[in-house]
Amino acid sequence: MNLIIENATIITMSKKGTIKNGAIVIEHDAIIDVAKTSEIKRKYSRGYERINAENKVVTPGFVNTHQHAAMSLLRGYADDLPLQEWLEKWIWPLEKHMRSEDIYLGALLTAVESIMSGITTVNTMYHYAEKGNEAEAFAEAGLRGVIGHVCFSWRKEHDKKALEHLARNWHNAKNGLIRVSVDPHSPYTVDAEYMQELRKLTNELNEKYGSVSKPIIWHTHIAETEDEKEKIENTFNVKLEGGVFEYLDSLGVLGDDVIAAHCVALTPKDIQIMRKRNVKVSHNPVSNLKLASGISPVPQMLKNGITVSLGTDSPCSNNNTDMFYLMKTASLLHKGVSKNPTVMPAEQVLKMATINGAKALSWDMEIGSLEPGKKADLAIIDFKKPHLCPLYNEASHIVYAANPSDVETVVINGEIVMENRTLQKINIHKLMEKIEKTKECLLARLRE
Ligand SMILES: [Zn+2]
Repeated sequence: MNLIIENATIITMSKKGTIKNGAIVIEHDAIIDVAKTSEIKRKYSRGYERINAENKVVTPGFVNTHQHAAMSLLRGYADDLPLQEWLEKWIWPLEKHMRSEDIYLGALLTAVESIMSGITTVNTMYHYAEKGNEAEAFAEAGLRGVIGHVCFSWRKEHDKKALEHLARNWHNAKNGLIRVSVDPHSPYTVDAEYMQELRKLTNELNEKYGSVSKPIIWHTHIAETEDEKEKIENTFNVKLEGGVFEYLDSLGVLGDDVIAAHCVALTPKDIQIMRKRNVKVSHNPVSNLKLASGISPVPQMLKNGITVSLGTDSPCSNNNTDMFYLMKTASLLHKGVSKNPTVMPAEQVLKMATINGAKALSWDMEIGSLEPGKKADLAIIDFKKPHLCPLYNEASHIVYAANPSDVETVVINGEIVMENRTLQKINIHKLMEKIEKTKECLLARLRE
């Protein structure tokens, strides 16, 4: 599509900063120009659809760097429990009854909710099946995503087959909308030898299906809780001298293609290792608070120059995909804990939700900012609202005052996927009916 969005305030997240009365020119899937509306009007006349974005703010689409998209089916099924009991007694038993068509539907629900919250890219870790999977759901909704297959020590052969199929069929698929990742679940469910094997496999898959500019990355949970070190020691009968990152580094599996979710329980040496290996972080404050996992030392990581992005985690540990709530929580949490209101200012948090998210997924050559040459992934936010008035600073409103219903229109890969809050590719009402039915079937299978 050839499109001009004009008369907008544009937060570019590039060197150009924020452009008042700006315009963006999109041809096919890419941004070809960003400048003042008057300049764009002089340069480009016919052959473009136009969106008048007066009183609106255009921001790069948000990047959610940690999700388990299909788990929307379990939203609100079990809450307020200790992590292990929550997983072992509630989540895992019900998940066992999920079929691949349920995984597809759950992921589609998350895709829809994400788009409606201004999210244009989601990094998701779940069980991959050849038919009925999260990649199909994201492609259907028009959502950009990194689709992973989660690996466990107890099913190595199954994982390796699934990863090969996933990489072959989905990496850089659907006009570059979908990429894939290798997802060792965590250091307490994946043994040392299998970790190293997965590292080798990732290199092989990259040789076959990836490239330096479009890599197959690693997505994993690391140091989510204080007792993780003990869990590794007890499960695999090993002794850890230092922290969890120190252990993983000794296996030689860390690198700049690793995105580690949570990073709550870290030693000072762990932080040094993360910096040295250029490991990327997905900070999940809402999930960490809800599951009482602890608080990630984000200000220290930022001080050390580590790339920190934001993740919602699954819709049953959050329990929604609201990027605005996530940004606000991230900012307030670290101000409160450090008793310092200057940490995590709005501009920095917005950066974490956009360009840093793109960097964390090794996708910043194409997304995360609004500049010529990048893919057209953006959200148009309506600022003509009582709670966004008066306007002094756009970033402040986005982080501290706005909510998903303020997102009016969303463009992904040059395609309008939501216009004036109407989804263009999915009938939400039909989808919600199907989801309720799926929930009933799941509960019935559990009771059988
Ligand atoms: Zn997770």
